[in-house]
Amino acid sequence: MEGIFKEAAADAKLEAVIASDAKHYLKTFGTRIPLCVERGEGVYVFGTDGRRYLDMVGGIAVNVLGHGNARLVAAIAEQAARVIHCSNLYYNPGQTRLAERLTEMSCADRVFFANSGAEANEGAIKLARGYFHKLGAPRAKIVSMKHSFHGRTLATATATGTEKYSAPFRPLPPGFVHVEFNDVAALEAEVDGDTCAVLLELVQGESGVRPATQAFVDAAVAACRRTGALLVVDEVQTGMGRTGRMFAYEHYGIEPDVFTLAKGLGGGVPIGAVLAREEAAKGFAPGDHGSTFGGGPLVCAAALAVLDEIEERGLVAQAAFVGAFLKERLEHVAASTGAIDEIRGTGLMLGIGIAGEKAVAVRDRLFARGVLANSVGTSTIRILPPLILSEAQAGDFCDALEAALTEV
Ligand SMILES: *Cc1c(COP(=O)(O)O)cnc(C)c1O
Repeated sequence: MEGIFKEAAADAKLEAVIASDAKHYLKTFGTRIPLCVERGEGVYVFGTDGRRYLDMVGGIAVNVLGHGNARLVAAIAEQAARVIHCSNLYYNPGQTRLAERLTEMSCADRVFFANSGAEANEGAIKLARGYFHKLGAPRAKIVSMKHSFHGRTLATATATGTEKYSAPFRPLPPGFVHVEFNDVAALEAEVDGDTCAVLLELVQGESGVRPATQAFVDAAVAACRRTGALLVVDEVQTGMGRTGRMFAYEHYGIEPDVFTLAKGLGGGVPIGAVLAREEAAKGFAPGDHGSTFGGGPLVCAAALAVLDEIEERGLVAQAAFVGAFLKERLEHVAASTGAIDEIRGTGLMLGIGIAGEKAVAVRDRLFARGVLANSVGTSTIRILPPLILSEAQAGDFCDALEAALTEV
C-alpha cells in the first residue's frame, strides 16, 4: 500500500469503517480513498481524521453549490417538514415549477424527472425508440461514441463506449453501435434510416475530459437532419453551469432534440431529468414511462434552490471566469514542472494530462496535501469543483498540484 494509506489508517474511526465496508458492501468500489467525510462547508470537507480538504471533485460534479449551502439546506428542511413524497399519481407544484424553469432556460419544451443520470439516459433511449414507434416506422439503432459514458443500467452500459462496463453482463440489449468520437466520416457512415438516435456527450467526462470538435457536433446535427434521427445530448456531467455555460450545447450553437441532466441538478440530492423539444416529446404517451420517486417534492425543492442560487450569484459566469483563471495558472505549472502534457476542457470541468502515467500518484500526493482530485485512468487528473470556487482557492489547488508534481 501507498504510504498515504498507512498515514490515514491512524484514524481509528476510519479504520473501523474500512473494515466493515470490506466485509459488508458489495465489492463494486474496491479500495476507496481513505477518507471518511463527516461534514462539509463551502468548497471544503472535513474527515474523521480531523483534517480539512479542498474538494476539487465536488461529489463528481454534483455539489455545484459546495457543501452546507444555507439556501439549499433550508429548502430541503422546509420541504421535508411539509411533505417528502406523495407519488406521481397526484400533481406536485414543485415538480411543475422545476419543469417550467428548466424549459424556460433551455431549448426543451417538456421535462421528465428520474433519479439519476443512468435513469435519465435510459428514459431518453426509450423516448427515441418510442418516437419512431409512434410514427408507425419503428427504428431501434442508437449510435453512441467510443469512450463515452452513459450509466450502469443494461441499456446505458451498452450505449457506453467502453466494453468493460457491459461485457460481463451479456446478453446485452441489441441496437447499439459505437463510432469513434470526433471522427466525422465514421459518424456519417453509421447514421442511417434505421437510426433513432445519436447519443453524445459534448465533453466526454469519464474518459478524461475530452471535448467534441465543432465539426463533429455539426456533422451529428446534419446526420440527424438527413435521416430524421433524434440528437440526444448527455449533459449529466456537463450541465448546470459546469462548463461555463448553463448547458454545454450552448458552446456549439446547437439545440438538441433531447438532452439529459442529473449530477449537478439537485446540488447533492438524487435527481435526473430527460428534457425534450415538443416534436421528440411525442415519443411518450400516457403509461409509456414513469417513476415512483422521480421528481418528488423533496428533490424538486432542492433543485429549485440550486437554480435560484446559480442565477442570483451568477455562478455560470463565475465557473467560466475561475475556469479560465485555473487553465492559465495550470499552463504556468505545466511550464515550471514539465510534468503536464495537456490541459483539456473548459469552465470547471478540466482534465489535466499528467506525464509518465503518474496521475494516481499525483492524486495521492494531493490527498496527502489536503486536496481531493480525481484520477481518470493513469494519465489524467480530473477536477469538477463546486461552481462557488474562488480564484484564491483555484490558486491553492495549483500550488498544491505544483508541489505534488515535483514529489512524484
Ligand atoms: C455520471 C454520468 C452518468 C451516470 O449518472 P449516474 O447518476 O451515476 O447514473 C451518465 N452520463 C454521464 C455523462 C455521466 O457523467
